[in-house]
Amino acid sequence: MTEPVVIVGGGFAGVAAAWAVARSGGAAVLLTDRAGASELYSGICDGDAPSDDVSALAQSLGLVITPELGAVATREGLIRRVYGRDSALLDLEEQAGKQLGVVDPGRDDWDGELLARSFSATRWARSTNTRFRCVALPLLKSGAERRMAPYDFARLLETPERAAELARTLAEVGGGTDALLFGPWLGVERELAAQLSSAAGRPVGETASGPGGVAGARFGRRREAVLAAHRVELRAGAARAVEERGSTLSVVLEDGSALAARAVVLAIGGFVAGGFRVNDGGVGSAASASLELPIALTLEGELMDRATSLAGQIARHGGFEPLEALGLAVDERFAASTRLPLFACGDAQAGKPRTVLAALSSGIGAGRAAAGVF
Ligand SMILES: Cc1cc2nc3c(=O)[nH]c(=O)nc-3n(C[C@H](O)[C@H](O)[C@H](O)COP(=O)(O)OP(=O)(O)OC[C@H]3O[C@@H](n4cnc5c(N)ncnc54)[C@H](O)[C@@H]3O)c2cc1C
Repeated sequence: MTEPVVIVGGGFAGVAAAWAVARSGGAAVLLTDRAGASELYSGICDGDAPSDDVSALAQSLGLVITPELGAVATREGLIRRVYGRDSALLDLEEQAGKQLGVVDPGRDDWDGELLARSFSATRWARSTNTRFRCVALPLLKSGAERRMAPYDFARLLETPERAAELARTLAEVGGGTDALLFGPWLGVERELAAQLSSAAGRPVGETASGPGGVAGARFGRRREAVLAAHRVELRAGAARAVEERGSTLSVVLEDGSALAARAVVLAIGGFVAGGFRVNDGGVGSAASASLELPIALTLEGELMDRATSLAGQIARHGGFEPLEALGLAVDERFAASTRLPLFACGDAQAGKPRTVLAALSSGIGAGRAAAGVF
């Protein structure tokens, strides 16, 4: 059994599976294609209270896990209660009962006055007597900075000159606020929120990001560090098929070459990530996975092993909800087959919650099971 465990998909679930295999003493190879849901997430980690293992892994991915529910702000003016967040997001729970400044640099996509009013009107703010007020900070140097995407603005603010200038500005901002809340602009490579907090002498942090924002980009960067630290081989590219080869499995890559695997963990994400797709009408199953598998998909508890009408399922529910539930059925050990060493986790599982903490937790479980450690 010298073959590695091969993990297909490098989102939160795949990284967690690789981490668990490596920590169990096994060799892991992680194959990943394009960005998935993990690179689109907001920096908020939804899901149930996490285990110690999930907390340990989350920390090495730059996330903060709290034993009690914390509170974070969204760009839409809401406050959400969660157990986990990207470390750059401001923890509002620690500021309960205080006065917070909502920084307004003058961007077109951000209205500090309106957001401060909206945060102040939330049930959380009223029940904790927390107040928000707008702090106008003219940080922009050109018209382009008013309109550029939040990700690009974040990259600009973390350049050495801009970061130093921002730190000086915050050191001079007068009193009256106990913490400063920025939009999702506090860098990708640098720990800008932490640096600015020490310059300002009070906590400085962000709201959640929109899809394609800084939180997902930070995940991508930290993933590489975690995998390298655990000697997981990271390969870019898509897997085309998983095939049976005697007592082991073989993962066929795009170029036709094959990787022998003692077990395979499918962390291919859901419909959004391209892990599953809806097929054209006609012959075959109505949906399929992004690679050929020796097992069938499940939708609402039914095996999709023959031509069925997914359109019919969608119409019955009056929306695209079934696509969220599409995936691979697994047992309590994340096994997707009773016969083959094939496991699934994260959004690739049929009908399971699709959140960051659920992806980490199921990824660790699937990785352990694939490594033969229960
Ligand atoms: C816009 C958006 C916002 C979200 N916001 C939140 C949030 O605020 N809080 C929260 O808790 N959750 C949020 N989620 C859900 C959360 O991001 C997902 O549940 C989680 O990231 C799923 O991780 P995963 O590893 O299972 O899948 P993914 O992150 O989707 O990873 C799957 C990976 O597999 C790769 N892949 C697929 N097929 C193959 C193949 N054949 N070969 C190689 N690689 C392959 C894909 O390219 C992708 O990189 C959000 C999701 C979206 C889409």
